[in-house]
Amino acid sequence: MDTILAENMKRLREKYSLTQEVVAASLMVPDIMVYRWEAGRAYPDKYMIKRIAEFYEVSVDTLLEKEVEIAPELPASDELPANCKMCGGELVHNHFDGTCTCANCGKKRAIIELYPGYAKYNRIITSIKKANTILNTRTTLAAADEAKLLLKQATDDCNSFNDVVSSELIKFCNEGLANVKRFESYCRGKHFFNNRSYKSALNELEKVRGYRDADELIARCKGRPESGKKA
Ligand SMILES: [Zn+2]
Repeated sequence: MDTILAENMKRLREKYSLTQEVVAASLMVPDIMVYRWEAGRAYPDKYMIKRIAEFYEVSVDTLLEKEVEIAPELPASDELPANCKMCGGELVHNHFDGTCTCANCGKKRAIIELYPGYAKYNRIITSIKKANTILNTRTTLAAADEAKLLLKQATDDCNSFNDVVSSELIKFCNEGLANVKRFESYCRGKHFFNNRSYKSALNELEKVRGYRDADELIARCKGRPESGKKA
């Protein structure tokens, strides 16, 4: 039995992360045939060898005669895939709902399905989400500290991984930390406003125009007497 063909078929299939069922369907043969070819228990006819070569985009000679070389960046099923395996389109990852969508064919899949190692980023993603919720729903400086702590921890985790996914995630940490700064000014501004220290409130709120209801508070500060000291 020709083991080179059997091994090449298996390696090529794994290179593209395909199942035997998918290959069988594409070649329009029963699943068992792909299994038998890869196991070296059966040998495809000339016509089928040509179709297999076309399917995997290699020459017939390559398929039959030498060990197929697998490009180093492709076999990594322990890395986040960048391209759709059905059409080759670029995958857009959404780390917050854990899915990736092909920009070309629109197929959406769970990232964890394509990349089992993805689970190790759970803590980072959870921390970023939690920080964002805090920043969107609360208005105290203590909350700012809480969010900052979560984002710093997530940043540290990203730095310790230092890979493709963590470098995508660290952008969200940085955005979050920038958001904390705005949040802090807003909280201080709101606090001054509530204490009727309008001048101080304006000072803080002017830094964060457009943030939450900052513009509205600014408008309400203007023209009001500084009554904080009076009270
Ligand atoms: Zn696609």
